[in-house]
Amino acid sequence: MKAVKQNSILKGVLIGCAAVILILSVVLAVTAVKNKNLRASGDSAAQAYSSLSEENASLSEARAKEAESYQKQIDEQNAMFSSEKDALHQTIADLNKQISIKRASEAAAATAHLPPTPAPVPAPAGGTDLSAKTIYLTFDDGPSARTPEVLQILADNGVKATFFVKNGGKYNHYMQDIVAQGHTIALHTYSHTYSSVYASDEAYLNDLQQISDLVYNETGVRTEIMRFPGGSSNTVSRKYNSGIMSRMTQKVTEMGYLYYDWNLSSGDASGGTVPASTIINNCRKVPRNNTVIVLMHDAGDKRTTVEALPEVIAYYKAAGCKFAAIDKNTPQIHQKVAN
Ligand SMILES: [Zn+2]
Repeated sequence: MKAVKQNSILKGVLIGCAAVILILSVVLAVTAVKNKNLRASGDSAAQAYSSLSEENASLSEARAKEAESYQKQIDEQNAMFSSEKDALHQTIADLNKQISIKRASEAAAATAHLPPTPAPVPAPAGGTDLSAKTIYLTFDDGPSARTPEVLQILADNGVKATFFVKNGGKYNHYMQDIVAQGHTIALHTYSHTYSSVYASDEAYLNDLQQISDLVYNETGVRTEIMRFPGGSSNTVSRKYNSGIMSRMTQKVTEMGYLYYDWNLSSGDASGGTVPASTIINNCRKVPRNNTVIVLMHDAGDKRTTVEALPEVIAYYKAAGCKFAAIDKNTPQIHQKVAN
């Protein structure tokens, strides 16, 4: 009985032990799993930490590189600015040098190379003040091959003039240039053939109407300003018609025309080719009248008139004369009718 009791006690003890072992095993196993999990999470934390550190390292490396590149840019800019500054200093120095060279040469010119003093303008006959005069340059017998040259000289000098025109055939289109450039276009004659123009009163008036129509057709200008072929004092007309100038000067005035002669002849029509120097000298013989109407010619063979023209203009300019083109308010200069 006792043995059975002992056995059953032993059995109980064994069972108890086994139970305890089982429980312990379970506890151990659970703990092991927990530990393993903990270790794993610790490992991943460590891994994360390590990757963060790496990231930090690469970030600071990038920042360092960035900073380096900024510094490099700043250095380059500073270098550039300083080379630009040097260049500017050089430019300023060069300019200053040029200025002082120019000042020096101007000072030298002022003392050593004075422009020639213009020759004093000789006093005109009678000692009249030339600056009170208005010069009316007039050109008869154009348009011609010379017209563009005459117009160019007038334009270059800013001078307006008056053209008493005739039928210039192929040059008639220059009439438009005369008007376009602000000069006065006026009537002279259509044919300029004395024998037919002065053949009769009717012939004269027909000729006058023809040139009036031609000018109108070429330019659109219907002008009342005119000049007789040979002037109102011509005596050549007497050969063809006695007293025609006396009648025609009166007739055209009644018709509303203003006829203009001249009180200064350039002498460019006095046969052959007159030397330019003669024309210039003639033009200096200024009359007492403040209205100075200068007779010149715009014709193919009047080359020396073109040659003389710049100097003639220069003379009047130096004397302080004004220039004008004839208009209806210009005082009429009339010569004495002699036929
Ligand atoms: Zn003429």
